[in-house]
Amino acid sequence: MSGEFKRREVKKVRVPVPEQDPHVRIRNFNEVALGYSLEQALEEASRCLQCHVKVAPCIKNCPVLVNVPGFIRKMLEGDMKGALEVIMETNSLPGITGRVCPQEEQCEMNCIMGKLGDKINIGKLERFVADYAREHGIRPEVRIAPPTGKRVAVVGSGPAGLTAAADLRKMGHEVVIFEALHEPGGVLVYGIPEFRLPKEIVRYEVEFLKSIGVKIYTDVVIGKTLSLYDLLEEFDAVFLGTGAGTPNFLNVPGVNCLGIYSANEFLTRINLMKAYLFPDYDTPVKRGRRLAVIGGGNTAMDAARSGLRIGYEEVYILYRRTREFMTARIEEIAHAEEEGVKFMFLVNPVAFKCDENGWVRAVTLIRNELGEPDETGRRRPIPIPGSEFDLEVDAVVIAIGQRPNRILYQEVPELEVTRQGTIVVDDKYRTTLRGVFAGGDAIRGEATVVLAMGDGKKAALAIDEYLRTGEWPERIVPMKIAAD
Ligand SMILES: Cc1cc2nc3c(=O)[nH]c(=O)nc-3n(C[C@H](O)[C@H](O)[C@H](O)COP(=O)(O)OP(=O)(O)OC[C@H]3O[C@@H](n4cnc5c(N)ncnc54)[C@H](O)[C@@H]3O)c2cc1C
Ligand code: SF4
Repeated sequence: MSGEFKRREVKKVRVPVPEQDPHVRIRNFNEVALGYSLEQALEEASRCLQCHVKVAPCIKNCPVLVNVPGFIRKMLEGDMKGALEVIMETNSLPGITGRVCPQEEQCEMNCIMGKLGDKINIGKLERFVADYAREHGIRPEVRIAPPTGKRVAVVGSGPAGLTAAADLRKMGHEVVIFEALHEPGGVLVYGIPEFRLPKEIVRYEVEFLKSIGVKIYTDVVIGKTLSLYDLLEEFDAVFLGTGAGTPNFLNVPGVNCLGIYSANEFLTRINLMKAYLFPDYDTPVKRGRRLAVIGGGNTAMDAARSGLRIGYEEVYILYRRTREFMTARIEEIAHAEEEGVKFMFLVNPVAFKCDENGWVRAVTLIRNELGEPDETGRRRPIPIPGSEFDLEVDAVVIAIGQRPNRILYQEVPELEVTRQGTIVVDDKYRTTLRGVFAGGDAIRGEATVVLAMGDGKKAALAIDEYLRTGEWPERIVPMKIAAD
């Protein structure tokens, strides 16, 4: 830690981030958090104590090891290009991570400033640097190693695939991404809404990868258009970053009524297909007065807040446990509350009722009480007999988790998957099929953007080693993956 630290006056309070007013923002899809001005960013940066890189807890707790004090120092020196280059040494998507990382559980978790006052707002500083660079046409200088003559296929263009692709390209390999949808980005484009992560930022960061030579083919479903075996014939190694895009459904009567969506469908319609601009765009989405969203994670918050923005007057989050067990980011829960989303805790849907035309009209809920902790450490909800009641609704969104899609590996018996459908890998991200690696939600189940990026990075290193040595174990020892 810097020797000056004891003598320097420490600004204890975090510089607040300007935000759109809740009454205004629920009428638009523009970004909620407006981001720092240059003066505000520099003031917040000046609060950093500049811990040494070897001990800085922010670096240790970032899954892609961003040198936080290093980029903040460059900012304070007025060198924004340098700041961007420090971040991009380890993080290829700073405009994205700065916006969507759960910083409170990662880089900011053990920030030393927390002992003296507010922790440094690392995410918003990272976002500032990325935005400033984009707006001022500042491009980082990236070193690309001489061509190795090796070719790597990356399946899926979410944060895991994009990161693996960027790192492999920098190592001098030829990299081709295959993406099933018509636009690259994975959950970043079809899941997380515009008001949290503007799509122009995703596009810009994807364009940067293209500019360093990563090729992207969209509308290619591996497992249908081409098989994994086809890729293995053409490429020296394959990385699977196919995510966890198949929604879980409730097994209760009435679940097939019209107007009941998976969060995946609801958000894809609104974000990727721009149903919020219907009829200017072709894709519709059901509108009405009252929307119920089932679940307590980021996906549920995004669906609820998108519901408000397309005109629902009353939006309910129905969650089976209590607030403290919700998995959504604290910031997103607070934003949803400010916007007027209503929270109903300790309730479980047991049936849906539809009208004579088949449209959902009500959800029947049963009240819960909390029992002993389950395998996730969270207290198990136990239904209270006889406590059922109806909530009238015009539409419902089910956001109770997603699992990996099996299309890719259903005809590849050598590829071992768990009962939950996640791909089994060892600590070098090697699957049970020689030359094939995997990472991100495809191996973890639903997790976070930066964990997927961390996997992509480590897998890239392992792929590079394999390409150089050709070594592959006879049997892999499965890596233990912590439940989210
Ligand atoms: C609504 C929502 C909100 C979220 N909010 C946050 C948040 O605020 N912060 C956070 O950190 N995390 C958040 N998450 C989680 C985060 O987005 C994921 O953990 C992350 O995107 C996983 O990255 P990935 O690269 O593994 O997979 P994905 O982002 O799912 O990308 C996988 C890609 O692979 C493609 N694909 C799949 N199968 C094939 C195939 N056979 N052939 C070709 N392509 C294929 C898919 O089309 C997709 O584009 C959120 C998730 C959702 C759904
Ligand atoms: S990538 Fe995420 S966790 Fe790492 S420093 Fe940036 S905001 Fe924090």
